[in-house]
Amino acid sequence: MKSYRKELWFTTEERTAFINITPQIQDALKESDIKEGFVLVNAMHITSSIFINDDEMGLHQDFDVWLEKMSPHEPVLQYKHNIGESNADAHIKRQIMGREVVVAITDGKLDFGPFEQILYGEFDGKRRKRVLIKIIGE
Ligand code: ZN
Repeated sequence: MKSYRKELWFTTEERTAFINITPQIQDALKESDIKEGFVLVNAMHITSSIFINDDEMGLHQDFDVWLEKMSPHEPVLQYKHNIGESNADAHIKRQIMGREVVVAITDGKLDFGPFEQILYGEFDGKRRKRVLIKIIGE
């Protein structure tokens, strides 16, 4: 069995963002030379997410609006966590959108269903944050 590890780094200009990272995962898969196995992709910070959905701008705006209704950023002092920081909403948004995804690798490719893409969700950006890619197989 082979294994491969890589980190991706992001610094978003906005506090919240959705980024399609499927091309970077496909690059990592090529570098790994693994043809059959699994890839795990996880956010390494507790205020960002990795999830699978469609890469469609209207849908991303809908996620944004829905998350903001569920857990509004302002007023920051509505959250007990926000003593000396202001990112409680980002912790909650990460919890809703998830930490990681696992995708099957078949014949050297990500074995996706229709329209599936791997997305990075940022909820407390404007600073350097990491995503882990771990691929195992042969
Ligand atoms: Zn915090």
